[in-house]
Amino acid sequence: MNSDYDADVIVIGSGVCGSVIAHRLAKAGKAVILLEAGPRVERADIVERFRASVNKANPNAPYPDLPHARDSFGKDYIIEKGETVNRPSYLRLVGGTTWHWAGAAWRLLPNDFHMRSLYGVGRDWPISYDDLEPYYGQAERELGVSGNDQENQGATGLDGPFPPRSTPYPMAAAPFDYMHERIRQVLTADGFKVLHEPAARNSDIYDNRPTCGGNNSCTPICPIGALYNGAVHAVKAETAGARLISNAVVFRIEAGAAGKITAISYKSPDGADHRLTARYFVAAAYAIETPKLLLMSVSEQAPQGIANSSGMVGRNLTCQPESRISMIIREPLWPGRGPVHPQVFFRERDGAFRKDRSASKHVINNNVPNQEITARLLKQGVIGRRLDEQVRDQASRFLEITTQHELPPNPANRIVPSTTERDALGLPRPEIHFSREDPYLLAGAAATKRDYQRVMELFGGTPFEDWRWAHPHSQGTTIMGSDPRDSVVDGFGRTHDHPNLFIAGPNVMTMPGAVNPTLTATALALRSADTILREI
Ligand SMILES: Cc1cc2nc3c(=O)[nH]c(=O)nc-3n(C[C@H](O)[C@H](O)[C@H](O)COP(=O)(O)OP(=O)(O)OC[C@H]3O[C@@H](n4cnc5c(N)ncnc54)[C@H](O)[C@@H]3O)c2cc1C
Ligand code: SF4
Repeated sequence: MNSDYDADVIVIGSGVCGSVIAHRLAKAGKAVILLEAGPRVERADIVERFRASVNKANPNAPYPDLPHARDSFGKDYIIEKGETVNRPSYLRLVGGTTWHWAGAAWRLLPNDFHMRSLYGVGRDWPISYDDLEPYYGQAERELGVSGNDQENQGATGLDGPFPPRSTPYPMAAAPFDYMHERIRQVLTADGFKVLHEPAARNSDIYDNRPTCGGNNSCTPICPIGALYNGAVHAVKAETAGARLISNAVVFRIEAGAAGKITAISYKSPDGADHRLTARYFVAAAYAIETPKLLLMSVSEQAPQGIANSSGMVGRNLTCQPESRISMIIREPLWPGRGPVHPQVFFRERDGAFRKDRSASKHVINNNVPNQEITARLLKQGVIGRRLDEQVRDQASRFLEITTQHELPPNPANRIVPSTTERDALGLPRPEIHFSREDPYLLAGAAATKRDYQRVMELFGGTPFEDWRWAHPHSQGTTIMGSDPRDSVVDGFGRTHDHPNLFIAGPNVMTMPGAVNPTLTATALALRSADTILREI
């Protein structure tokens, strides 16, 4: 390393995207500093806090939410100013938000990269599926993805649910249990494609982590580490020589001559400022905190903030708007054994219908439903032995489905640093302006309603809870594109404005697609890491 700098590369954020980059660079002998706003945690402590927590439905509940690094549900943190409450969900600690993810590890389809040219919707990516395909394979091996190769081979083709692939899944998917096998029979007979969800969850011993034991608490915490999270690569990066500094909240990025980034500054929990220099920088603080940091970094060299000559930083906030319904069905299937969503079903994932409406992915939610059933029965005045009997009966016949849709990026949906409200360190709080009123999304949701109705008929269901929306998987706020006038990064994740600043995370994705984004974001991050390695 050149001793004029503190590091070859500084990575901001130790979630999966920042940590896989830090690991790849450190393994190649580069001097890397990985800065993380939150603390280090021990898995056993989080498991204990989950056991003790009253609100088991809040995935953030067992995690530290510290005044200097509030998580997205943190007290007095995110400010919602839009028509729709967005309520993004993320954590701030070493390893990041995948501590409480479900591990669903999907590839996009080739057509997902060309939505504007093919269907007149949203934007085209500046890269194609073929550019990313080798990195998808690498990402699957890094995270340890289990999936079903047979289903994949039977369903290739551009209108199938899976894209072509050059390498098999690192591990086979675990077989369906009784409940999921029964659902497969019923829905397949009606023309649905019912499939194993590919997941970064061990179906065998892999990467020194154990096989999934079926504990069913994947979200918020896998007690044994069978489910991958970003701390795996944060630790690997450290072992390979990276310096990981926790409780370091980066609040400024400095630009120098010719657009080059020269330094960052961070605050420790006591409010003290620290400054570090490097040759290259990667911002990987996820879809709300990364744009907030860029927009906070206003200077004479960057009057609109870092990487923001297009004015697109913080805009195009999108996600996979998720509907949820639950029902009590005729037959007992006993949900809540094994991982939280091993099974998905589609009517169709791609095709001409995408000119008019969003695609969708339905998931069978395999959670233990006793808490919500008990709460409802108590409200109805059921107590004593009848309560016990009815909880057992209804819990055995409970079926819940969630469905992710596509919301094309819209510049009006955005995150900005608040100009009036500050957090405990005196830094601006994130302010979100978001609306779900998008005709393309709503037309997709109407098709979802029809599918729900059909499932209800097939299983003789009566509604338990009607339609509810959530907005998981924030994306788009540092959008990738070929035109520097309307995008923030190029196809390699490099900011158009600063040759030595890269951005990693789902926030660079050009279009969301209807499947979970993290495998794509990880593949893009690995591609960025290789680009940096070629240059230093
Ligand atoms: C409940 C839940 C379930 C999910 N399930 C799935 C799933 O099954 N499949 C899927 O694909 N996706 C899922 N996701 C989304 C997934 O978790 C994210 O896509 C993924 O974590 C993004 O990775 P990242 O590295 O970009 O960001 P993160 O994992 O959020 O990491 C960013 C890191 O940056 C740090 N940071 C933030 N601000 C600063 C700062 N100023 N200075 C220094 N560090 C900072 C944070 O503390 C954090 O550690 C789920 C999300 C939630 C909330
Ligand atoms: S089912 Fe249990 S062991 Fe398996 S991934 Fe989920 S929490 Fe971990």
